[in-house]
Amino acid sequence: MVDNSLIRLEGLRKWFPIRKGLRRKPSGYIKAVDDVSFDIKQRETLGLVGESGCGKTTIARCMLRAIEPTSGHVYYRKDGSFIDLTALEPDDLRNIRQEMRLIFQDPYSSLNPRMTVRNLIAEPLIVNGVARGAELELKVADLLQKVGLRPEYMRRYPHAFSGGQRQRIGIARALALDPNFVICDEPVSALDVSVQAQILNLLQDLQTEMGLTYLFISHDLGVIHHISDRIVVMYVGKVVELGYAESIFRRPTHPYSAALLSSAPVPNPELRSEKGQRAVLRGEVPDAGSPPSGCYFHPRCSHAQDKCRNEYPDLRSISNSGNGEHLVACHFAEQFSFKGVFDDFEAGGST
Ligand code: SF4
Repeated sequence: MVDNSLIRLEGLRKWFPIRKGLRRKPSGYIKAVDDVSFDIKQRETLGLVGESGCGKTTIARCMLRAIEPTSGHVYYRKDGSFIDLTALEPDDLRNIRQEMRLIFQDPYSSLNPRMTVRNLIAEPLIVNGVARGAELELKVADLLQKVGLRPEYMRRYPHAFSGGQRQRIGIARALALDPNFVICDEPVSALDVSVQAQILNLLQDLQTEMGLTYLFISHDLGVIHHISDRIVVMYVGKVVELGYAESIFRRPTHPYSAALLSSAPVPNPELRSEKGQRAVLRGEVPDAGSPPSGCYFHPRCSHAQDKCRNEYPDLRSISNSGNGEHLVACHFAEQFSFKGVFDDFEAGGST
């Protein structure tokens, strides 16, 4: 089988020490990301979904080495072979970071209000010595046009723009260095619903035009459904389900994924699947500093049995998807038939 991965995470961990007492010795660890492995294929959009605090953004920060992982590896394909980003020296990492960019959640706070749009977009080009003079001006104008803004706006400041326009400026800034891989960290959650679809469509158009690969982080399943090819569902720092979006939205297999989907708003509720069991999400997300024994989801799972309380389930392949790789961390995954969002994915359309 041809390996067309662009990024591969292997056993990634980020544990934050809990320090107490005068000597500040660690008394335990918050396992924000714990033994996470998945790959992102070239030109695909991988959706990363889960409740707040499940480790989504920590994974993104570890991938870019904005924070150092505790252990594990992040491999990035460059010129046909994989480089371990966790082992790179700062100079080499700086070069690779030009190919890996981040689109932030909040278009209001992520842009310096004292800089013009021209300077905001030109900054990465100047810092990395990519362009200057007339070439720089042309590149900024071209980037503005790419994201649907008029080049005449480049002398204005961010406050003169709406939320959607500011996010377009943030996208232009992220794309300035012509990256391969872009992490979109909740890029539409601060925007009005009416503007969200425009930004999602823009991201999809840019992906096609520039051959981009996305890691798309969101807690909003409607957004994830709209944009993702495959989905990773996270719970308390661990991957609990991974598969094609179509498979998971039609027939979720992990009780947590099923409960998330059953609580997601559907544009037309009549399209919601009538087949299968309905899963309900009850209780609170446990503390990542002292997760429950066995399967972390067992205190909230109405299907929990003794084995669930004692043994953490491995992430393993199951065969019921019929659409490529489908991994689930549940002892009893084969026994469930949960309601999906749609019986017919195509009929469900997108948000
Ligand atoms: Fe529920 Fe047990 Fe599966 Fe965990 S392993 S999701 S507790 S059935």
